[in-house]
Formats: sequence, structure tokens, C-alpha cells
Amino acid sequence: MLELRPTCENCNKALSANSTQARICSYECTFCADCVDKVLHNVCPNCGGGFTPRPNRPAQNWKGDNYLGRDPASTKVKHRPVNCEEHERFSASLRDIAPQER
Ligand SMILES: [Zn+2]
Ligand SMILES: [Zn+2]
Repeated sequence: MLELRPTCENCNKALSANSTQARICSYECTFCADCVDKVLHNVCPNCGGGFTPRPNRPAQNWKGDNYLGRDPASTKVKHRPVNCEEHERFSASLRDIAPQER
């Protein structure tokens, strides 16, 4: 199950469970849309993978107790600001390897 982390790992902006601004990589590294677009260039600084919008979890119990009331979002903040210079080099090096996918 997704943790639904509460903030952007880079800028620490709050990302609520139903935020449309939350982005995750396949390992669930969590960032805001601004950072993914402007700082990360859609490359995860931790694993090198891409990002996708994080699906929301219903706040209402629409079906079978599968909702935030029973499975609340994580409150554990993970704040690890990205070293921009290092990430420029890292993301550029990945672009060189797989230009058709970036
Ligand atoms: Zn951010
Ligand atoms: Zn990642």
C-alpha cells in the first residue's frame, strides 16, 4: 500500500492525501510537481527512475473500508533536499544513455 508521504522530499511542501501536486517514483520517493518539473527534470534523484502522479485515496468509505479513515496517510516527513548541481549532472548522464525515453 502507498504510504502517501506528507511532504515533498526536496522543498518540504505539504502534499495532502488528495493533492493533485504529488508525484512518486516506483520506489515511492515523493516530490511536488514543481520540483519534478523544474528541479528534477522527471528524474528521481534517489533511483534515476521517472515520476507519475500519485493516485489519491478516498476520504470517504465508498467501498469495503478502503479509505483514509482506516488507512491514513503517512505523517513521517522525509526531507532530503536535492543537491541541484549534482542532480544536473546525474539527470544529464541518464539522458545520454537513453535519449529516446527522456
Ligand atoms: Zn517540492
Ligand atoms: Zn526513486
